[in-house]
Amino acid sequence: MTSENNHILIIGGGTAGWLSAAILAKSLNSKTKDGVKITLVESPDIPILGVGEGTWPNLRSTLRKIGVSETDFIRECDATFKQGAEFVNWTTTSSEKKQASYYHPLSTVSHSSYDFNLAPYWLMQDKDTRKTYDRAVASQARLCDAGKAPKQIVMAEYSAAQEYAYHLNANKFADFLKRHCINNLGVNFVSANVTNVILDDDEFISLVETDHKEEQTIAADFFIDCSGARGLIIKQTYHIDWQDISDVIFNDTALAVQVPYKSNQQAINTHTIATAQTAGWIWDIGLQERRGVGHVYSSKYIDESQAKQQLIDYIGDDYSADLTIRKIKLNHGYHKKFWHKNSVAIGMSAGFVEPLEASAIYLFDAAANMIAAQFPRKRSQMLYVEEKFNQHFTMRMERTVEFIKLHYCVSQRRDSQYWIDNCDSKSIPKHLAARLDFWKTQPPTKYDFDNAWEPFNLDSYLYVLYGMNFNTDIAYNASSYPDVAKAQEMFNRIDGASSMLIEKLPEQRQLIEQVLQYGFNKV
Ligand SMILES: Cc1cc2nc3c(=O)[nH]c(=O)nc-3n(C[C@H](O)[C@H](O)[C@H](O)COP(=O)(O)OP(=O)(O)OC[C@H]3O[C@@H](n4cnc5c(N)ncnc54)[C@H](O)[C@@H]3O)c2cc1C
Repeated sequence: MTSENNHILIIGGGTAGWLSAAILAKSLNSKTKDGVKITLVESPDIPILGVGEGTWPNLRSTLRKIGVSETDFIRECDATFKQGAEFVNWTTTSSEKKQASYYHPLSTVSHSSYDFNLAPYWLMQDKDTRKTYDRAVASQARLCDAGKAPKQIVMAEYSAAQEYAYHLNANKFADFLKRHCINNLGVNFVSANVTNVILDDDEFISLVETDHKEEQTIAADFFIDCSGARGLIIKQTYHIDWQDISDVIFNDTALAVQVPYKSNQQAINTHTIATAQTAGWIWDIGLQERRGVGHVYSSKYIDESQAKQQLIDYIGDDYSADLTIRKIKLNHGYHKKFWHKNSVAIGMSAGFVEPLEASAIYLFDAAANMIAAQFPRKRSQMLYVEEKFNQHFTMRMERTVEFIKLHYCVSQRRDSQYWIDNCDSKSIPKHLAARLDFWKTQPPTKYDFDNAWEPFNLDSYLYVLYGMNFNTDIAYNASSYPDVAKAQEMFNRIDGASSMLIEKLPEQRQLIEQVLQYGFNKV
């Protein structure tokens, strides 16, 4: 059997490039003689973006699959454990009396809403005395409040008491993956600038030209554009149309800063904190020796000096004038096709939606896994996979935009024009608006999420909607929920499990110190 597609060239060595290289090299057996050859070319002159520090739980299974030790990863990437995100001041500002913070945890360990949806039973409870939704239906919000880690040192690598992902140093992570790809997975590495992309008569790419002394051309059968915002293939070669989303997501600038801990005893949060501001929001991510903090905002509503001042005010006593604040322009949107001919774009080259739910690295991972699983071995198969890939990832981008918009458009904040405009129905995508209208008389159910590939599932929507006090009038369908006793038993069980977990699990800093000193048991 002869295969026509035996060599993949990846352009770019950021998170997207090296993660794709690792997933493809492992899945397509690049280390063996019969496997698909993978080459990655990276510019020695253009630095990687290096800001993505929050991840999703899928990274755990990916690291395990590509053969990485979790202990090594945590030690070499300054990684910590992440159990979700806390959204502060999104519903109302803290000066108002109502709930000013809620969690979107990662865990569905306590129960899955796909099996038994507790939301209607929570909605039936007395508004004044019930627990908040996140604390009623799972343990993880309470673990985050208590600063507890999701596992103990005696547990094996990648196993969990509670679902978890990581916070990590993005530059160290790309380096870590690079070493693993080259040393263990058989990936060839070329340090060079790609200067030209050469097409054949069918407009398929045949080779790229570089400024490398020996490898002036690199021919391959399939090309992956991980060249970041430059989009060397998707934008500069094929000029694929761009779907602008700035009428839905308003933020266009980020200010990022690294804040060292004052002492090596300072607690490390086990969740990302996202605090809403008058024209954006501030992320706060705890790594081993520093926090990554940044203000994502819309320059239409505040200028850079106001945005900087809000960031400094947020950091408070931990701010000092010698910290470097980096400005990053955000270009929201995505290409109308990701796969074209014998090429596909993954990463910033494909598109960008603000990091409010840290979804980018998840999408790189999902894209590389789909390509690995469906890699067309003959050119005649290319179009079939291209169409499916483009459908999947267009849906994933659309749904990501909708879920991010949800955080803004159900807010009750009206304290600045930014929030007023964000809640204006004209800025809400039609599909999201239809869902929100439906959910006014019944809470979301699994039937609203019938596509297995939606990046944000039923549980995610429930956490955000009811964290933000979305008003579902359960009276319309009250008779449809007869399992009150079963629901109460589950609420009680979650309560009991939460107290037990809080007692048993270590604090994040304690667990990190144990990992640095002893490591987990290897799987
Ligand atoms: C402020 C901010 C915060 C973010 N936070 C998160 C987060 O918490 N979680 C998350 O999942 N995502 C986050 N993201 C998104 C995500 O991490 C980034 O989109 C990601 O870092 C981009 O990675 P990349 O590999 O696509 O591009 P880059 O890191 O830009 O890498 C591009 C690569 O292409 C190479 N290259 C370019 N041109 C050439 C050429 N001509 N020849 C050879 N090589 C070339 C460069 O050398 C580089 O290696 C964030 C993004 C921003 C802006």
